Amino acid sequence: MKTADFIDVRSDTVTRPTAAMLEAMMRAPVGDDVFGEDETVNELQRRTADLFGMQAALFCPTGTMTNQIAIKLHTQPGDEVICDQLAHVYLYEGGGIAVNSQASVRVLQGDQGRFTAAQVRDNVNRRSDSHFPWTRLVTIENTVNRGGGCCWDLGELRRIRKVCDAERLALHLDGARLFNALAATQATPQQYGELFDTVSVCLSKGLGAPAGSVLLGTREHIGRAHRLRKVMGGGMRQAGYLAAAGLYALDHHVERLPEDHRKARTLATELERLPFVATVFPVQTNIVIFRLDARASGDAFLAHLLDHGVKASSIGPQLIRFVFHLDVSEDQLGKLVAATRGFG
Ligand SMILES: *Cc1c(COP(=O)(O)O)cnc(C)c1O
Repeated sequence: MKTADFIDVRSDTVTRPTAAMLEAMMRAPVGDDVFGEDETVNELQRRTADLFGMQAALFCPTGTMTNQIAIKLHTQPGDEVICDQLAHVYLYEGGGIAVNSQASVRVLQGDQGRFTAAQVRDNVNRRSDSHFPWTRLVTIENTVNRGGGCCWDLGELRRIRKVCDAERLALHLDGARLFNALAATQATPQQYGELFDTVSVCLSKGLGAPAGSVLLGTREHIGRAHRLRKVMGGGMRQAGYLAAAGLYALDHHVERLPEDHRKARTLATELERLPFVATVFPVQTNIVIFRLDARASGDAFLAHLLDHGVKASSIGPQLIRFVFHLDVSEDQLGKLVAATRGFG
């Protein structure tokens, strides 16, 4: 079987550019972006900053880089970062907070990756006591990947912003799937732009671009971020070919995200009826996480799916994750449901 024939629900990063996206990439005017001379990169940066009502933006190769640059912008070595125990910045960025920023991490136990303003307040170290690392930054992830793609409540985020203001903490958003959260909750990009000091948004997840993430912040933040991107080896040259894919995605792939959410809900409803499924996490966006019954083997389940042309993955013992994206068609959803039902 060719790669393209598999139904691939391992991640929303597996999408390939559509023919129309590739055409937009081919037509892009480009220049040397390290000199700030790539028109297409500049347009993407302006468009995203305007969309979120923020001053400036920086195009980077990955969301890991935009997050890591943001953490470094807000901290000094020996400072402390507050995030949830499920956070991508903590679990899945190779220990980058330690490597890049030499900061320690206070992990909170939230509800599927979502903590409260009270939890933040209780975990801020007193600066008057020199024993403690200085708490400097709170990072939020929306949607929460390990939380089954769940969304934050805007009211709680506003309360967290108040705590940050009172305690002089910066607030960063890992918005790898922020557009999914916006689609699911009807919130606006401006409402998020107002709340956060920096925001990272991925173009290579549900939006379907082959690579690229954007970091948003003040002109001062983004000026410093430009230098940090260079230090981390992320200064790309004719990056406009990639930025063009991002612009195309903003124009054509944002409004279709509810389709992915509907497919995820359809699949979750099917799973709830199956005897070998113990629990299905609530589905709010494009991710379905479910726990297999203790008698069912995760490896056997994944092998069964692969035999039926489905690539899926586990994120823990008995925990399976399916992620929907623009390369899973209606027809493939039907096949995926059939393959899942056929197990056991
Ligand atoms: C994918 C992802 C990122 C960034 O990942 P890259 O592969 O480095 O682009 C960051 N945060 C979350 C929550 C993600 O899912």
